[in-house]
Amino acid sequence: MTCKDCGKLLDEHEKEASLDALGVPLCARHTRLIKRIILNNNTPLEAIQLFYGLKDRGAQPMLEWWDGKKSVDIAFSRVKLNIEIDTEYNLITHEQALKDLEDGMHSFKNGFTTIRIPHLTVKYYLEDTIDNILGIVADLKINMKVI
Ligand SMILES: [Zn+2]
Repeated sequence: MTCKDCGKLLDEHEKEASLDALGVPLCARHTRLIKRIILNNNTPLEAIQLFYGLKDRGAQPMLEWWDGKKSVDIAFSRVKLNIEIDTEYNLITHEQALKDLEDGMHSFKNGFTTIRIPHLTVKYYLEDTIDNILGIVADLKINMKVI
């Protein structure tokens, strides 16, 4: 098995450690890097799995992309698409809902589309989720060419 990020051949320890901690096979260096990103941004594990799933399919997503105001879980900045993974979908408060709406408005004003995906959707329907995101990215590319 190789590192999903750099392609380095993994030894047993690296393989086990990264799969246990992140659910994605990564070398020791990339496991450390991703763990630091999670620590700094409170990134959901599903965002990490989705990020590498999208890369696997030839896409070029960015993880924890700073949009000038906040860090976005996953972004395709070329087509101005922000993806946020919602981890506590059922427990969302009014305050959080309003903040999400304000964030969405801020992004929209800058020409960004924000989609929010419940973490369980990523967990149980990873390939379908990736298909849909790649579809949106392709459509956004077409729309941008038209403009
Ligand atoms: Zn690596």
